[in-house]
Amino acid sequence: MTESIKIVILLGAPGSGKGTVAQYIRDRYNICYFSTGNLLRNEVKEKTSIGRRVENILGSGGLVGDDVVNEIVEKNIEKVAESRKVILLDGYPRTKNQAVVLDAIRSGEFKEVIRVIELDVGVEEVVARISQRRVCAKCGNTYGPMDGVKVCSCGGELIKRKDDEEATIRNRLNEYEKATLPLSQYYSNRIVKIPGNGTPKEVAHKVDGCLHGFGIEKRR
Ligand code: AMP
Repeated sequence: MTESIKIVILLGAPGSGKGTVAQYIRDRYNICYFSTGNLLRNEVKEKTSIGRRVENILGSGGLVGDDVVNEIVEKNIEKVAESRKVILLDGYPRTKNQAVVLDAIRSGEFKEVIRVIELDVGVEEVVARISQRRVCAKCGNTYGPMDGVKVCSCGGELIKRKDDEEATIRNRLNEYEKATLPLSQYYSNRIVKIPGNGTPKEVAHKVDGCLHGFGIEKRR
């Protein structure tokens, strides 16, 4: 009988709280976490041949070619397939072509079961959230309006990133929408949308319910 490995894909616009949710799942569930952004940055740091190819693209904010990203994801899924752990993918797929390739990956005896969680937050909410965000000029820590601090815990000054100006945010959201809409449609029968505008506790509760529905339980 073919065994299955479960893959959970996390979709969410910039400012939707995707990073917080990913961290929540990593802390409480027994999963393998892959962020393609981290994997690619690692290739650059290690100066691999892939790293040298993608270095400039990462710096520019453009998308790395599907072939490169698909190869990295496939390699990493293969590495952990034996453990039959749940895999959480963050930042992948970003295009429909990547989603099609992911569906076709077969790791030896294993068949993938893919489920998608999308954090759904309105444009105005995201604009409000990000434009109030401040970043530490020294260590890069991010603070939201709810944190109520004026100086970073490391003592660094809190500044507004150029990326977080309103016009830039709207632009990034447009780009995100354009790229993700085909993905949401592609996954329409495997996707659960969670409103991302609740308190962190409310969102976490919904995420738990969603994962439970996928047959994935918290670490004991
Ligand atoms: P992230 O940390 O997810 O924001 O990713 C950082 C950068 O890595 C992106 O701006 C892209 O250049 C690249 N990247 C990450 N994931 C992908 C992907 N699935 N497809 C193409 N490029 C990606």
